[in-house]
Amino acid sequence: MEYSHRYRAYPTQEVAERLEHHLDVHRQLYNHVRWDYEQAPEDDKPSEYDQNNRLTDWKQRWPVFGELHSKAAQATVARFHRNLSNLRKKKEKGYNVGRLKRQALSDYRSVTYNQSGFDLDEKRGHDKYAYVRFSKIGWVKIRYSRPIPDHVTIKEVTFKKETTGEWFVSFGLETDDTNLPENPDVDSLNTSNSVGIDLGIQNYIHTSDGKTVDWLDLEDDYKRLRREQRKLSRKQKGSNNYEKQRRKVAKVKRHIKRKVLDYQHKITTCLVREYDAVFVEDLNVQSMIRGDGNARNKQDAAWRQFITLLEYKADLYGCHVVQVEARGTTKECASCGVETAKPIWVREHSCPSCGFETDRDANAAMNVLKRGFSELGLGWPESTPVETVTATDTPDFQRVSASHVLETGSLPS
Ligand SMILES: [Zn+2]
Repeated sequence: MEYSHRYRAYPTQEVAERLEHHLDVHRQLYNHVRWDYEQAPEDDKPSEYDQNNRLTDWKQRWPVFGELHSKAAQATVARFHRNLSNLRKKKEKGYNVGRLKRQALSDYRSVTYNQSGFDLDEKRGHDKYAYVRFSKIGWVKIRYSRPIPDHVTIKEVTFKKETTGEWFVSFGLETDDTNLPENPDVDSLNTSNSVGIDLGIQNYIHTSDGKTVDWLDLEDDYKRLRREQRKLSRKQKGSNNYEKQRRKVAKVKRHIKRKVLDYQHKITTCLVREYDAVFVEDLNVQSMIRGDGNARNKQDAAWRQFITLLEYKADLYGCHVVQVEARGTTKECASCGVETAKPIWVREHSCPSCGFETDRDANAAMNVLKRGFSELGLGWPESTPVETVTATDTPDFQRVSASHVLETGSLPS
């Protein structure tokens, strides 16, 4: 399985200058590869292999290319050919595409080291920092927010300068599937080691075993974003100040995105660690049902990211993640199955047929759990969370604050 980890990087001034220089030389190489390809006759275009073989020759003629690490140079040749094949695919699909453009300094932002030419020193940094070495460039400090697990192989490392001026390093990782923890036996699943999740409106998530996790408080960040956007609208387009302000806006947006991603990482890790099976609603269906406007679509994109994280972690931590049919999870009674329509503002589920009463989202989460079991071909287990809730009469939900998740990286049990 392949996936990636991305970290904020803090190169020293001196190393940053070298990173910039390498970016620029790689860009020149990319443009040279493009030129070499373009000027070849139509029936004799060089392949990636051909052009890799020309690297030695090019290095002799243009010593500046000799400054690059050879595997990194090959990765740049590979990038051109990947772009080329993507362009071809688009053309085949009927898109009107031109040729590959020359890369200007402003749009060539990253360099990849493939297979070799890099090192990771996890012990050198303090606390949450580590160091990566790029051959011919030097060591770069990164904020090592989540360690790379022991059983994975680092296939490649990329450094990137964002439009905001911030540096990032990302690792292309591969896990040998035989080393992964085994997913628990489906037959051994029961309600105590499985959970259904309602992706929230009221809460961030509501679990079938009675936990509600709060939304991340982003109010201040959004306020700041609106403020910076207002400032941008007052600047003259194309001016230096405009450019400066545009970067500021991009930075705030990125900050919000990172904050949400970090939060989602924490929650999804908690879930796959704690449970043997996690069930969520299938969003493609859900957005159609709830389909009310832009805000919802935006949140759907965030939930998709959440589910993607859940799914890739499922294998890393040995957990089943299953998406279930979303239709009617709110309407249906988790206890007896009778459907009762309820408008969005009705927060309680109170079943006219069997008398089962609980929170609206708790009912939905239990339905998700139920559907998960049937999706896996299992019957509804003997002891259901429905019974537990009915027994206590007054359902007592455990409210988990966002700061608890962020600080401890766990859900209270
Ligand atoms: Zn009922």
